[in-house]
Amino acid sequence: MGNEQNWAGNLRYSAEMVHEPRDAAEVQRLIADAAARGVGVRALGSRHSFNDIADSDGVLISTRLLTGELRCDAEAAAGRAGTVTIGAGIRYGELAIALEERGLAVANLASLPHISVGGAIATGTHGSGDAVGSLATAVRGIELVDGTGAVRMLRHGDADFAGAVVGLGALGVVTRVTLAVEPAFAVAQTVYEGLRWSALLDDFGAITGAGYSVSVFTRWNSDGPDQIWVKRRVTEPGQAAEADALLAAGALAALEARHPLPGISAESCTEQLGVAGPWFERLPHFRLAFTPSNGAELQSEYLIPREHAAEAITALRALADRIRPLLQICELRTVAADELWLSAAYRRDALGIHFTWLQRQDEVEALLPEIEAALAPFSARPHWGKLFTQTTAAIAPLYPRHADFVALAAEYDPQGVFHNDYLRRVLL
Ligand SMILES: Cc1cc2nc3c(=O)[nH]c(=O)nc-3n(C[C@H](O)[C@H](O)[C@H](O)COP(=O)(O)OP(=O)(O)OC[C@H]3O[C@@H](n4cnc5c(N)ncnc54)[C@H](O)[C@@H]3O)c2cc1C
Repeated sequence: MGNEQNWAGNLRYSAEMVHEPRDAAEVQRLIADAAARGVGVRALGSRHSFNDIADSDGVLISTRLLTGELRCDAEAAAGRAGTVTIGAGIRYGELAIALEERGLAVANLASLPHISVGGAIATGTHGSGDAVGSLATAVRGIELVDGTGAVRMLRHGDADFAGAVVGLGALGVVTRVTLAVEPAFAVAQTVYEGLRWSALLDDFGAITGAGYSVSVFTRWNSDGPDQIWVKRRVTEPGQAAEADALLAAGALAALEARHPLPGISAESCTEQLGVAGPWFERLPHFRLAFTPSNGAELQSEYLIPREHAAEAITALRALADRIRPLLQICELRTVAADELWLSAAYRRDALGIHFTWLQRQDEVEALLPEIEAALAPFSARPHWGKLFTQTTAAIAPLYPRHADFVALAAEYDPQGVFHNDYLRRVLL
């Protein structure tokens, strides 16, 4: 058992060694050496996953120093929609600052800016937005070192591309990523309260469509959700009318800044009260300079087809008394469908039902099968980087390209150097 832990501190990595290579050539040497010794290898990003997805009983290859120089294509260099290429170890918060200096933006961010780009795309990490895909949908190219130590370049449109992007670290260590960017934009964030369940469930789409990115926070109280965070791109036409949808549904705009967890200071949260500001200081819920969320937590998330939103929420409300004693907060958010084989939004517009738990892992893991059973009728796909108890038998049928992915992984990693307990349990 090693000394290195994940961000939440609920997992001690079993690797004998954590290496911090600076370029693809060093990654190649590390993988070749591990393969020759017959020990396993995993990429390690910013360690924000809550399960053993990144664990290895051999060596870990941290991407911390694989940040590289940001390179813009001609369009992006002129401040227009285009692409940028960057090292996979860069964190979104750092990337955002480099983009903003050039007048550029990515379409969306997760709830926190501290996660690495490579780790986020490998697990299908997402933010919220009816029309916005997961962070992996911005990927236009990847450079990776496969299980044989060879460097491979994959571009959007290549045969393997849609299989390789949300790759769970099973195909190789991604060293560089090319991302779609657009001109920087401004966002205004407003928190609404007082919405009743009936108003949310009668027209779920009207609420999640009330802005560019909408998050519903709930502790499953009987009257209604606690808060609705609405992030609006302020230059978009018709925006005022969309916001009115929330007021029309009976919600009120909060007059003070809020934290999603009741009773906690909003100091660590991004600016609210409708004050417009840069995209990267509004799209995440938490500021880069602060410990995100409460700091001591576990997380689970299940993504279902959005058309089942009302039924799934009703099924979970029936479990409220079981969920609440272990819960800090739940977040409901939407993700647009995509074509990435292992994305939880593969070919279906999704609703993510996210749980931030107290750090009581045994009790949480004892409860998860009940939640998974309640959501099974909606073919709930678990977030790859959070706690869940489903195994391959339940997960494989949820992904039409599952067998193709397993075959692709075998092609990129014929010796199985990237196999770990997690992959053997949930994928292979
Ligand atoms: C406080 C908090 C808030 C979060 N909020 C959100 C959220 O809003 N939305 C959401 O969807 N998720 C969220 N997550 C989950 C998180 O985004 C994912 O777990 C994500 O994978 C973390 O990225 P990481 O760099 O820390 O990856 P790690 O946990 O280090 O690794 C995750 C996986 O990615 C692989 N990997 C990492 N880097 C590479 C690489 N360069 N090449 C190949 N494989 C690689 C690893 O091998 C492993 O399989 C949150 C987590 C925390 C702790």
